[in-house]
Amino acid sequence: MCAAVLVVGSANADLVVPVDRRPAGGETVLGGDTVLSPGGKGANTAVAAGRLGADVALLGAVGSDPYGALLRDSLAGAGVSTTFLRVVDRPTGIAYITVTPDGENSILVSPGANSALTPADITSEALAGAAVVVLSLEVPLPTVEHAVRRAAAAGVTVVLNLSPAARLSASTLAAVDVLLVNEHEAAYLLRSDDADPRELLDLGPRAAVVTLGAKGAVVVDADGVTEVASPAVEAVDTTGAGDAFAGALAAALSEGTALVTAARRAVKVAAISVTRHGAQPSYPSSDELE
Ligand code: ATP
Repeated sequence: MCAAVLVVGSANADLVVPVDRRPAGGETVLGGDTVLSPGGKGANTAVAAGRLGADVALLGAVGSDPYGALLRDSLAGAGVSTTFLRVVDRPTGIAYITVTPDGENSILVSPGANSALTPADITSEALAGAAVVVLSLEVPLPTVEHAVRRAAAAGVTVVLNLSPAARLSASTLAAVDVLLVNEHEAAYLLRSDDADPRELLDLGPRAAVVTLGAKGAVVVDADGVTEVASPAVEAVDTTGAGDAFAGALAAALSEGTALVTAARRAVKVAAISVTRHGAQPSYPSSDELE
C-alpha cells in the first residue's frame, strides 16, 4: 500500500498541564488537570493532510502502549494510513507541556519510539507511488537525511519542514524541493535576524517557504519572492499551526498545485486551526475550507 503524501516524522502524546508557575529544581508545584492529546510534528502534519482529503500515510514509530493506540486512532480517524507506522520496543514519544496563565508553553520531549526510526525504515515500498514526501526533525537526523536523498533520487517532491531547527548537510539541502521554516528557523539557518529570505536558496533547496505567524508566509523560488497574506482571524491557540501549514501545503502539492497557490491554501488552513484549541482537533476538513 502506498500513498500520494508520505509523511516521515514523529508521533507523540502531548500531556498538557496548566500551572501558575513552574517548579524550580528540587521543588514540587501542584498544577491543574492534565489534558492528553495526540501530537508530534509528523502525526500532526499527516492528520492535517488527511482531513483535507489527501491520500496520506505516516512513516514513523510508536510503542505498544496506550499512547501508541491513541495516536493510531487519531490518524485513522483522519483517514491517514498507518501501514508504515512501526510498533517498537520503546515507549511512545511524549511531550510534557506546562502552560502558565500568560499562555507561555514550556515543553520537554521524550522522543522514545521516535528515536528508533532508522534509515532502513525508508523502504522502496513506502516511497512507491508517493508524489510528495514531507519530513520534520523530531526523528533522528540520519534517518531524515537518508529519506530526503532516497525520495529525491526516486523523483518524489521533497518538502522539508526544518523544525526543530538543525544544521543538515549541504548535499541533503540540495536534494530538497521546498524548504519550509518559520521566522526563527530561517534566522537560525541564515545566522541573522534580518537576512533576505532569498538567501535560503543559496543553501541548496529549489524553493523555500517562510511562515510568518499572523502575517502569513513568503514563498521564494526561481520566480522571485511572493508574499502570501493570512486571512485576519481571532487566534485562540496557535499550537500545531506550523504543522497544519505543512500538511496543507503537501496535500496541495501532491495534486499538482503550483507552490504559491499551495501556500495560499495552507495559510487558510493554518488560520482556521489557530481559531480553535489544540493541534490535531483544530485542523479543518476540505468542506470547512470552502
Ligand atoms: P507553531 O509552532 O505554533 O506550530 P510555527 O512557529 O511553526 O507555528 P508560524 O509562522 O507561527 O509557525 O505559523 C504557521 C502558520 O500558521 C502561519 O504561516 C499562518 O498561516 C498561521 N498562523 C499562525 N499564527 C496565526 C495568527 N495569529 N493568525 C492567523 N494565522 C496564523
